[in-house]
Amino acid sequence: MIAERLALDGGRPVRESWLPFHRPRIEDDEIAEVVETLRGGWLTTGPRVKQLERELAAYVGAGHAVALNSGTAALHLALEAIKLGPSDEVILPTYTFAATGEAVAYFGARPVLVDVDPLTLNLDPSAAAAAVTDRTRAIIAVDIGGVPCDYDPLLELCRARGLVLIDDAAHALPARYRGRMVGTIADLTALSFYATKPMTTGEGGMLLTDDGRYAERAQIMSLHGISHDAWKRYTAEGSWYYEIVAPGFKYNMTDVAAALGLRQLTKQDRFRAERAQIAARYDEAFATLPAVECPHVPDWSETSWHLYILRLQLDRLTVDRAQVIKALAAENVGASVHFIPLHCHPWYRERYGFAPEAFPHAYQQYQRTVSLPIFPGMDDRDVDDVIAAVSKVIDHYQR
Ligand SMILES: *Cc1c(COP(=O)(O)O)cnc(C)c1O
Repeated sequence: MIAERLALDGGRPVRESWLPFHRPRIEDDEIAEVVETLRGGWLTTGPRVKQLERELAAYVGAGHAVALNSGTAALHLALEAIKLGPSDEVILPTYTFAATGEAVAYFGARPVLVDVDPLTLNLDPSAAAAAVTDRTRAIIAVDIGGVPCDYDPLLELCRARGLVLIDDAAHALPARYRGRMVGTIADLTALSFYATKPMTTGEGGMLLTDDGRYAERAQIMSLHGISHDAWKRYTAEGSWYYEIVAPGFKYNMTDVAAALGLRQLTKQDRFRAERAQIAARYDEAFATLPAVECPHVPDWSETSWHLYILRLQLDRLTVDRAQVIKALAAENVGASVHFIPLHCHPWYRERYGFAPEAFPHAYQQYQRTVSLPIFPGMDDRDVDDVIAAVSKVIDHYQR
């Protein structure tokens, strides 16, 4: 990384070498499975993709799984499956990644942003209820950092108003809400296998649902709108025959990616346990540190610990969050921010005229958040270094 870093007071950094914010955990069996796939000669969607769909659906307990080339594609096809139209509205939290809102805009529909619970950073069910209109078709809940949303009131709201509940669970494999596995709660659930996510295929995603009609539609639209049923029905025509039933997309997962996913899936419980151990050590160390607040995990939920989002008490510090991240980098510790609320970005600001204070909880919490490294493969010394670096920086800038 950067050749020379000046730590606080010009001293030695807490760590000799750079600790990245995230490093994917790829082991020998993933590498072997990918090599075997390459040698086997079947590179694109094939037996490994089908196997990954079966195994992931079984792991989560979902009725159907459709493998895709991104989590964004899963959100897009979820909204396509419910036939979202240009005059429709979809409610979603402003505190999320770009993909959650853009998938709604793809249809010319309106992404209706709402504020979040300041403790969990997740969609506030009462804010969602207040935003429902005659045009609302769906709610997209996002499990920030892997902490499940409060689903019971959201499910009740959706049932009462005839809305579809979609879970953007890009962070939440594996996570549980009141004992129920994320992926079995909403009508449709989107997973991401991006490089930094709990499970990775490099790039990839999965759409989960118990509704066979949604799954079939997503399957067809993921590959040019070509119907496999029509294909099967007319096999008498020969294996060259196919039928296009709608102008679809090119969202299919490759067998090379699925090879990575098949091995990654077997490790998800172990990876989560490793992240939970790191989180427990952070919680213990930071509980007594002034001017910071540890992540809030409601006792009815089990987080995936995808992210460890530390909150700064800015009124007790002499600097802002950006300076804290800069100081951590000088100690050779990578940190990040999740997320810049959607309503603070130019497209949303200009199109809908949002001021930063339009969603006060999201805006205030955004300014306080620092995501610390939490990935399987960090050893005890790495965790010690993060704790030492955070403690040093906070002590230094404390009021
Ligand atoms: C990563 C992410 C996505 C998109 O996933 P991709 O696989 O990168 O398309 C969607 N929503 C959230 C909250 C994410 O963090």
